[in-house]
Amino acid sequence: MDGKSLLKTGTIDKEDVTGDLTCVRTLIANVCFVGRPSQRDWVLIDTGLEPTVNALEKEAEERYGCPPQAIILTHGHFDHVGGVITLSERWQVPVYAHPLELPFLTGNQDYPPADPSVGGGLMAGISPIYPHKAINLEHRVHSLPGDGSVPNLPEWRWIHTPGHSPGHISLYRDSDGTLIAGDAFITVKQESALSVISQEMELHGPPAYFTTNWEQAKESVQKLAALKPQRAITGHGRPVSGEELTIGLNHLAENFDKLALPKHGRYVQEHNS
Ligand SMILES: [Zn+2]
Ligand SMILES: [Zn+2]
Repeated sequence: MDGKSLLKTGTIDKEDVTGDLTCVRTLIANVCFVGRPSQRDWVLIDTGLEPTVNALEKEAEERYGCPPQAIILTHGHFDHVGGVITLSERWQVPVYAHPLELPFLTGNQDYPPADPSVGGGLMAGISPIYPHKAINLEHRVHSLPGDGSVPNLPEWRWIHTPGHSPGHISLYRDSDGTLIAGDAFITVKQESALSVISQEMELHGPPAYFTTNWEQAKESVQKLAALKPQRAITGHGRPVSGEELTIGLNHLAENFDKLALPKHGRYVQEHNS
């Protein structure tokens, strides 16, 4: 069942990528349901923003009839974790993230502020108002296992893909080349409001206004390209597969500085001078 059924459900859209993987588009970021419909041991990847929590919960209830076994976070930026406190409390489920991301999820360290000077339009321009303060999940958040395994997802492994944030991870299933890339690369130019609204397909580097280490971000894209994934869900934009993914990702990996690295920016000079 590789069909792409795009169904409207309230404030969220969903698109089936494989029979057991659905990309759910919330207000600005994507979240993933991993598990076949009616399967009771399913997992939620990222949580979107607080306003879409109820729609996500309803969708999960209709699809699975039960809460997930766990919530896995690709990273802790506000657009990926906005609903995580509410959902993990309501569902009473553990949350997992990379150890380097835990300070931002346990109230210990704020992210550096977004950098509006990276350019690219309205979304970057309004980025100073994006929240960058740490949230506090307290005892509900745990480190991902050090061996690369993913709790409750035996077919998957996590891959450290830092740069956009220190503990950013991607998730990969070797058996069919399926990648959940978080914000390591995305399929919409997130800095531009127009392409965010129209969701034009194009592969881009991580959202620039939050990316603090561009050298690592480049290595992460190269690491993911080397996997030769067959299909990918990214943190923003539509899922991508086949040649469009292969060609686009190789092109991005080979020309990262030209295509993704902003010409100027607070975090560009820090790491690339
Ligand atoms: Zn992010
Ligand atoms: Zn994001």
